[in-house]
Amino acid sequence: MEQQERLQVLKDIVNIDSTNGNEEAVADYLAKLLKKHGIDSQKVQFAENRASLVSEIGEEGKRVLGVSGHMDVVDAGDVSKWTYPPFEATEKDGKLYGRGATDMKSGLAAMVIAMIELQDEKKTLSGKVKLLATVGEEIGELGAEQLTSEGYADDLDALVIGEPSGPQICYAHKGSMNYTVTSYGKNAHSSMPEFGVNAIDNLMLFYNEVEDFVASVKDTNPLLGNFTHNATVVSGGNQVNSIPELAKLQGNIRTIPEVDNEKIQQVFADILKKLNAEKDVKLELVWDYDKLPVFSDKDSDIARIGQAAYERRTGQKIQLVTAAGTTDAAEFIKAKKDFPVIIFGPGVGEMAHQADEYVSTENYNDMIEVYKDMMVDFLSEK
Ligand SMILES: [Zn+2]
Repeated sequence: MEQQERLQVLKDIVNIDSTNGNEEAVADYLAKLLKKHGIDSQKVQFAENRASLVSEIGEEGKRVLGVSGHMDVVDAGDVSKWTYPPFEATEKDGKLYGRGATDMKSGLAAMVIAMIELQDEKKTLSGKVKLLATVGEEIGELGAEQLTSEGYADDLDALVIGEPSGPQICYAHKGSMNYTVTSYGKNAHSSMPEFGVNAIDNLMLFYNEVEDFVASVKDTNPLLGNFTHNATVVSGGNQVNSIPELAKLQGNIRTIPEVDNEKIQQVFADILKKLNAEKDVKLELVWDYDKLPVFSDKDSDIARIGQAAYERRTGQKIQLVTAAGTTDAAEFIKAKKDFPVIIFGPGVGEMAHQADEYVSTENYNDMIEVYKDMMVDFLSEK
């Protein structure tokens, strides 16, 4: 494709408002574009107007390189803070502005275009490139969860997530868990607390136990650092002279392989069991969000190939780094086989979710070439 055509593809999908939904319009656009170049794809319906997209190029039998991007974007926020309309992609001074320009329609478009160009150039690939374009990444990695549970990631030998990483390659990130604990008590007048059960007091018992556990953990990850726990939302009671009958606490935990999600769930379950055995304590725990840490081998061939391809294209050496934030990879790694993951895409993470989000058009073009090289190199090894 010519540069202008490549850019037009990105503009077209930025112009589709897929704020936490409506990803099917993006999937339809990409499916049509792929079809125009002789590449079939398959929509995987998630809900009304929401579908992930799976597509492959190459041949059966050898390795499979997964490339993945999410099609949803976050809310544009306060539109008055934008110089350019968030859903009318605007090109100015080597930058393309619009919601999703960085996070991550540029990564997604670059992957699709790389596949199309390899197909058009009739490149022989000894293996397959598999596109997994997802719904609902920003609100729980919903598409990745569905695709993985339906087996679409079972044949992967490596996975590239095209989130803005720039310019670096991320090979590990922490897991993330959200929980809600509800404490049930009994109302009474605060002058006669003996007739009530103070839901806030009981909630504090839980909080203190959790914090004791947190303080007791000595394990740390040499690269990701410590696991963390933060109480982030709390509510309870409704009147200053009444013993509260209800109190709620929400918290977020960032996990590491040494203190993983399973371990945390077990610890929390034990704490709850112990406290609920006490008189008048009634606590309920719900896990609202549960995403695994991703920890790939720093020396994996896909990391090495990505690094080399970027350097060849731009003359710049890039670092292998870790990150705190979660990605669709947290779901895809639940697939049958173990495979290395890298997060490597155009744009910079700090630009994500901001007003006047943009991607450098040069960076976008470079990443199309880098992806093409990576696909060819990964599939010609072994
Ligand atoms: Zn993203």
